[in-house]
Amino acid sequence: MNKALAELIRISNETGGDPTLVQGGGGNTSVKTADGKYMYIKASGTALKDMNQKQGWRRIRLEPVLAILKDKSLPKLDASTREPKVVNMLLDACDDNVKTIARPSVEAHLHACLNTCVIHLHPSAAGAYVNAKNGKAKLARLFKDETLPPLWVPYTDPGFLLAKKIARLVNSYQGKFGKKPSILFLEKHGLFITSKTASGALRLVRSVMKRCNSKLKQPRDGSVKAVQQEKISDLKLCIERACFQAARKRTTIWYYYNDAIADFLNQKDAKKMLFGSLTPDELVYANGPAMWIEMPKSKKSFSKAALQNKSKSIAGRLKQQKQKGKKPYVAFLVKDIGLFVSGTEKITPTVRDIVLYSIFIRTNAYRMGGILTLNKRQEDFINNWESEAFRKKLASGSK
Ligand SMILES: [Zn+2]
Repeated sequence: MNKALAELIRISNETGGDPTLVQGGGGNTSVKTADGKYMYIKASGTALKDMNQKQGWRRIRLEPVLAILKDKSLPKLDASTREPKVVNMLLDACDDNVKTIARPSVEAHLHACLNTCVIHLHPSAAGAYVNAKNGKAKLARLFKDETLPPLWVPYTDPGFLLAKKIARLVNSYQGKFGKKPSILFLEKHGLFITSKTASGALRLVRSVMKRCNSKLKQPRDGSVKAVQQEKISDLKLCIERACFQAARKRTTIWYYYNDAIADFLNQKDAKKMLFGSLTPDELVYANGPAMWIEMPKSKKSFSKAALQNKSKSIAGRLKQQKQKGKKPYVAFLVKDIGLFVSGTEKITPTVRDIVLYSIFIRTNAYRMGGILTLNKRQEDFINNWESEAFRKKLASGSK
């Protein structure tokens, strides 16, 4: 295996297995070849941890990719025309023996303008800042002793416009500091780490995470209390029924519970924190935040009649979401009981990891002074984004 590809697999596998760094098929990585002609980059729809020397990546020519960013006609196009066009241009720039339909990451053009090794992650520890109202100022204080400070990237719709903005910001950063930035915090999105070597990039990921975490509240160990199996089964059925009533479609309900979930459920303001979508990924994979559900303390709340009423009220809330033009909840946080997720066996672990990521961010951003979420226009853009739909289709296993 050549050196650049070996490094790509190394940085992908070492970061991709940690759900606090990246969830499901999110995040992406790339390594440029020593001759400066090519870049190996993660393929869209692949999880970082699943990449190996045979699959999960594409080799792309750098010159046409950088030309996309300089193209004068693209910014004038409507997003619905432009984004599929850019995806095809990226596909045309591929130069390898890959025979599958795997497309290069939709962020390939963005990677092209950064250093040799690029690791893009959605870490919960970075999210606590990029999704906090005063996160930018907090980060500036946290990294104030760095001679090369992190670059802050204000929220921009993903795809071509984000790549353009980053190219511009990197350029002016280079003008000011004489070097490209090695740490980029993307508002309401995530983190980019870029370095000359794979080891350097991995080291930087670890040190940035350590520094971010140093000021954050971590879930308390031993928060989990025993929950009666019967209550779990009752609630699974109750939520399953509600989903059916709302959508006339059968779905399976899965149950998860651990210290992080229990710690969140115990917080006084937990319910208040569950609003809006934090990032494009939370919106795409989990349809936004989890629904908050409380069961009255009395024994009667688990009677047959009470559970049927609960189903009806949950179904009502699901229908309301639909009427508002929003995608219905797929995650349900039930006070004192745990997390329930509706969906296929393949997609639900990703939803669970996104909920864990989300409650960590919400807890910390809330403590920091307020949670920052995508606004309506930003959400609409994501919902209409063709390539996100493609990514989700691949992740859910459909052809
Ligand atoms: Zn991302």
